[in-house]
Amino acid sequence: MNPSELFTGTISHIYSASLIIMILILMFIMSLSLFLNRRKKAYFSLTISLFIVIFQYALVITVEASTLHSALSEYLVSFLKVLSFILVNMGIYQLYNPSRMKQFLLFYGSVFLAFVISLLHFSVNNWFEGTQSQIEQMQDLGLDLYLLILVFICYFVVANRIGQTQKYRLGLTLYFFMHISHFINTYFLDSESRVFSGIANFLPVAYYAILFIILFERVVELLQTSYTNSITDGLTGLYNRRYFVSRVNQYVSNSVAVSVIFADIDNFKKLNDTKGHQKGDEALQQVATIMKEAAEEFGVCGRYGGEELVILVTDPETVTGELAEEIRKRVEKEAGVTISVGYSKLQPGITAEQLIKQADDAMYKAKSTGKNKVVKYIRPQSIQL
Ligand code: GH3
Ligand code: MG
Ligand code: MG
Repeated sequence: MNPSELFTGTISHIYSASLIIMILILMFIMSLSLFLNRRKKAYFSLTISLFIVIFQYALVITVEASTLHSALSEYLVSFLKVLSFILVNMGIYQLYNPSRMKQFLLFYGSVFLAFVISLLHFSVNNWFEGTQSQIEQMQDLGLDLYLLILVFICYFVVANRIGQTQKYRLGLTLYFFMHISHFINTYFLDSESRVFSGIANFLPVAYYAILFIILFERVVELLQTSYTNSITDGLTGLYNRRYFVSRVNQYVSNSVAVSVIFADIDNFKKLNDTKGHQKGDEALQQVATIMKEAAEEFGVCGRYGGEELVILVTDPETVTGELAEEIRKRVEKEAGVTISVGYSKLQPGITAEQLIKQADDAMYKAKSTGKNKVVKYIRPQSIQL
């Protein structure tokens, strides 16, 4: 076999379709697991779309591999090409946008239009006079023009609504050149140019590779977001109580010398009542930011409850009492509220919950002895007889 046949001969169609099927199968698996994990309609329709596109390329291989190029299979290949373009782009669109009735109608409308236009395939001889081979050439002109319009619509309209606009547009540009090469070969040249055949054949591989990357990055982004949401608090951006306790547990179970700072905003209810909940939220966010900044290098900061913020100090060099006092002073100066703070250092035999409770007790002591102060937890002395 001549090596150039790999790029332009019949075998090249099978070769490029096989590469595309491999990419599509990977996308199919990702999309299916996304759907099984999240049960969203959008992922279901992407999965089905990918299945249809896989079917289309499997059909291309079957048609190319058999010597039997029936009129029906030729028609199906051309129609499925347009159908898969619409479906795949709809799937990518849905990865970034809620599925609304209007969009569904537009997509299904364009599928229906593709079907109507595809029927021109069978009526070319009614309006076009020419030899049998010329008629065969003209059969898919309607669909080819329609696909060209769809590429433009996706480039200028759909792309704006997709998170990875540049990548998506790059993919469409490749698809455009692929389609133009196909156009030149089919409608402008007497015999196929090898260069244009090669382009028309292999650019789709790059196109689907780009779609794969778009899907992959979107999946990673979705997983990251849902992980971040599961461990952080929406209002303050700090770790939530469950995650904070798990981090304390992790250190305590390894007997690392850590300590916990427990802060509670003073007279917060009054602030809410007099200045409104919105102002309360803002003050809480400000305190959270100060604590987060202070804790960044020394440990982990979380929101333990309503207006109770906590820090797990993991840095052995840090003097916890000084850090707590620094935070208290900054809050008083910058946040328009004050905090009462308690802290406790890990002692052998103490659980994570007990350590947090000790810091909470110390905070309570700060509250009951005047507020806006830092109190260290002191173990009650056992009574000596
Ligand atoms: P103390 O000085 O003894 O801590 O008094 P306090 O008013 O701060 O304490 P108390 O526990 O009586 O009230 C806490 C208030 O914090 C009650 C609740 O409305 C408010 N709060 C809890 N979470 C939020 C929140 O996310 N935003 C706002 N704005 N208020 C909150
Ligand atoms: Mg309070
Ligand atoms: Mg409180």
